[in-house]
Amino acid sequence: MRPAQALIDLAALRHNYRLAKKLGGGKALAIVKADAYGHGAVACARALETEADGFGVACIEEALELRAAGITAPILLMEGCFDAGELPLVVEHDLWIAVASSEQLEAVLAFETRATLHIWLMLDSGMHRLGLSPEDFRAAHARLSALPHVAPLVLMSHLARADELDSPRTLEQLKNFRRATNGLAGETSLCNSAAALGWPQLRNDWARPGLMLYGADPLHGQPHEHADELQPVMTLQSRVFLVREIAAGEPVGYGARFVAQRPTRVGVVAMGYADGYPQYAPNGTPVLIDGQPGHTIGRVSMDMLTVELTDHPQAGVGSLVQLWGDTPRVPALAPLCNTSAYRLLCALKRVPRIYVNA
Ligand SMILES: *Cc1c(COP(=O)(O)O)cnc(C)c1O
Repeated sequence: MRPAQALIDLAALRHNYRLAKKLGGGKALAIVKADAYGHGAVACARALETEADGFGVACIEEALELRAAGITAPILLMEGCFDAGELPLVVEHDLWIAVASSEQLEAVLAFETRATLHIWLMLDSGMHRLGLSPEDFRAAHARLSALPHVAPLVLMSHLARADELDSPRTLEQLKNFRRATNGLAGETSLCNSAAALGWPQLRNDWARPGLMLYGADPLHGQPHEHADELQPVMTLQSRVFLVREIAAGEPVGYGARFVAQRPTRVGVVAMGYADGYPQYAPNGTPVLIDGQPGHTIGRVSMDMLTVELTDHPQAGVGSLVQLWGDTPRVPALAPLCNTSAYRLLCALKRVPRIYVNA
C-alpha cells in the first residue's frame, strides 16, 4: 500500500475551536468550507458537533453533504444562494443564509414560505467583494425585519486585511461596520481567524474561524499573544521507498534542478504534487526524516519527491518522512513555496486521511 497519509488530529481541532470561541468572545461558527480546508468536512463537523454553535460553508452543495451525514447543527451558506431555486432547499434542510447582494435580497423578499428564515445580512465595510453598501444595508435591514417569517437578523461583514497587524484597514472596516449598523437590531459577526487572534477590539457575537481551527496561524511571522496556542491538526507523511547513491556532479529529477556537490544519498518518497504537495517547493525545503530535520532536493514530481539522505546514514527504505505537521508548520512552509497556508491545506487530495483522537 502506498504509504502517503494525512493524519487528522480531531482533539487538536476541538482545542483550536475552543480557543477561537474564547478569543472571539461570543459564539463561533466553525468554517468547514472546501472540505474543511482539506481535512474532511463531515469528519470535522462530527468531531465538533457537540460543541460548535454552527458551521459555515460556501454553498448549498457543501451544506447538503453535512446534512446527509446527519449533522443537525445550524449551517450558514456564507455566500448565500447562487439562485432563487435554492431557497426551497434552504427551508427543507433548515439552513441559514447570507444575503450579500441586492439580487439575493430581492429573491428572499419574493420567496413565500411558512418556515422561518435565518438571515445573516452582509455589509460591505470596505473589502468590496460581497455585501451591501451602508445605505442599501440599512434599507434591507428594515425590509427584512418587517417580515414575520424572518428571524432576528445577524449583521455580518468580512475583513480584507486582518492578517496584517500593521494595516490601518481593519480598524477602518470596524468603524464603517459600527456606523452602518448603529442602532440596528441583531447580533453581529466580523472576526475571521486573523481577527480573532490579533484584533481583540473586533470581538462581537459570532466569530467565523476557519484556518485557525486547523491549527494554522494566519498571522505567522507577526509576533502575537496566541501564536503558541494553536495545535496543528494535519500531519502529512509518507515513506522512503527507494534509495540510491549518486556521484558529485550528477543531477536529480526533472529539469536537473538539483545537482550533487558531493557523493549524495537520495531517498525517493511517495508524495507528489498530485497529492497536494507544492510542485515548486525549492531545494532545501524542510521535512522530518525519522523525526530528524532534513530537506527535499530536486523538483517535486506528480507522485514522488526526493530527499537528501547523505546526512541521515541510519535512514533508508521505509523511513518515515513528515512533509508538514508540528514541523514544519504549514504557515512556515507556505512562503518558501510561494503559496499560502490556505492553499497548501486545500490542495490535499488522493492521500488517505486517517482520523485520530476522535
Ligand atoms: C472563509 C471565510 C471565513 C474564515 O476565514 P479564515 O481566514 O479561514 O478564518 C470567515 N468568513 C467568511 C465570510 C469566509 O468566507
